[in-house]
Amino acid sequence: MTDDIEDAHQAYYHQFEPTEIETLRTALLGWYWKNRRKLPWRGDPPPYGNAEKPATNTKKAKVAADNSKSKSLLSFFGKSTSTPTKTTATKTTTTTSKLAPAAEAAPAAVGTPVSPYGVWVSEIMLQQTRVEAVIDYYLAFMKAFPTVQALSSADLEEVNRLWAGLGYYRRAKMLHDGAIAVVNEHEGNVPNTVEGLKSIPGIGAYTAGAVGSIAFQIRTPLVDGNVIRVLSRVRALAADPKNKQLVALCWTLAEALVSPTHPGDFNQALMELGATLCSVTSPRCSECPLRTVCLARKEVEAKQRPVGKPDTKGDDLCEVCSAGSAKGPSSVTEYPQKAEKKEPTPETYVVVVLTSRSVKGHAGTLCYFLRKRPETGLLAGQWEFPSFLITDAKQRKAVFDSGVQELFEGEEFTTTSRRSCGEIVHVFSHRKHTMLIEAAEITSPLENPTTTDAESQSKKRKLSSTTTSRWYLCSLTLSLLLSSLCSASLSILSH
Ligand code: SF4
Ligand SMILES: [Zn+2]
Repeated sequence: MTDDIEDAHQAYYHQFEPTEIETLRTALLGWYWKNRRKLPWRGDPPPYGNAEKPATNTKKAKVAADNSKSKSLLSFFGKSTSTPTKTTATKTTTTTSKLAPAAEAAPAAVGTPVSPYGVWVSEIMLQQTRVEAVIDYYLAFMKAFPTVQALSSADLEEVNRLWAGLGYYRRAKMLHDGAIAVVNEHEGNVPNTVEGLKSIPGIGAYTAGAVGSIAFQIRTPLVDGNVIRVLSRVRALAADPKNKQLVALCWTLAEALVSPTHPGDFNQALMELGATLCSVTSPRCSECPLRTVCLARKEVEAKQRPVGKPDTKGDDLCEVCSAGSAKGPSSVTEYPQKAEKKEPTPETYVVVVLTSRSVKGHAGTLCYFLRKRPETGLLAGQWEFPSFLITDAKQRKAVFDSGVQELFEGEEFTTTSRRSCGEIVHVFSHRKHTMLIEAAEITSPLENPTTTDAESQSKKRKLSSTTTSRWYLCSLTLSLLLSSLCSASLSILSH
């Protein structure tokens, strides 16, 4: 809310004139058709270009850099840290892109048929993740599950395996749930209305807008972080990008702007401008197609706010902007305002890496003990080395002992070796985990639940209903183990 009388301005200041809308649409679409990146979900053939090393000047980039200093679980095991696919997902925000631009001015590419399912998959993958990081994952995913029917009938473990390294694993489960709903409730056809799309699990307002406009050419808006940044600058909105009033106003503005003839291209253009020219820290205003209608740029040049519009439209004062200087911003990057920083909550865990060479039926084979996390919450449904929250690092040994007892529920076993292997620090968006790694080899009374005799099946049921834990045979399920480790390690590195 404006609380400085000198900075008071009319709400009308942020609205578009009809002529501005026309100018903006024409300029933005023209720029997009000439400069848009070639991407598989846009119906483009390869090559898609190579990912550029992203700029590392954002908070997310700093978090990724901090996490990368942590000791990888794979390096602990002396394994390669390469992912199943070529691209490693990092949550940095790039300031420029060198992906190959689409062919010249591209009217021929406009309207290239794209699959609603493919757009849906790409939009879910792109949430919180850079385009460059998504391409290889998208191609591998679509190869494995080329249709919504294929995804709906796939095992969630296989879906998670292909998602390993992309982060935010809940997205994979929601996509899988959504595919099942489309098959069961819509005869396998992705709904072709915004309301129908929103009825699918995992599809919210943004994804419905994206799939609706890009795949079905519905004139409907979308708003993501890039769009909020662009519109906040073009309309000089001085508020935190998470401010509810600001977000609501951005939806209203996007609704007014979206092209009636090329809604999908227009929405992609707005996002692409935010991902490239109108970046967080280094906007390239002199190259920008929106510079003639951009209020932030005008204010900076005029050193004045408000600027460019007569302020005579009544007393409907703006309630979105925070107080600021009536002299105007010194840089367009002052819009939107910086988001309030919230320090992640620190938590410490003892992580138990248990091995055994005496799993019944597999004597002599090195096995690792993995446990499935709960189906809700952080890293829902992912396999992990069992971990236990502690409040004091001095509890490390005691928690290890009680934790292992808990895992085996009173079964007899002997610890033949145990050692502390240092710690891994990983920063999630809202939490900072310090993981104290304890490794131990034990003689095991348990059988591998994958064996089929009646006794072990009974044991398996017991395990499933209590700890949902499993032994994995390293030599027999190496790829699965590695993907689990990659998942664990990369989630450590990439969130
Ligand atoms: S003129 Fe500058 S601030 Fe305005 S939209 Fe373009 S790049 Fe962003
Ligand atoms: Zn305002």
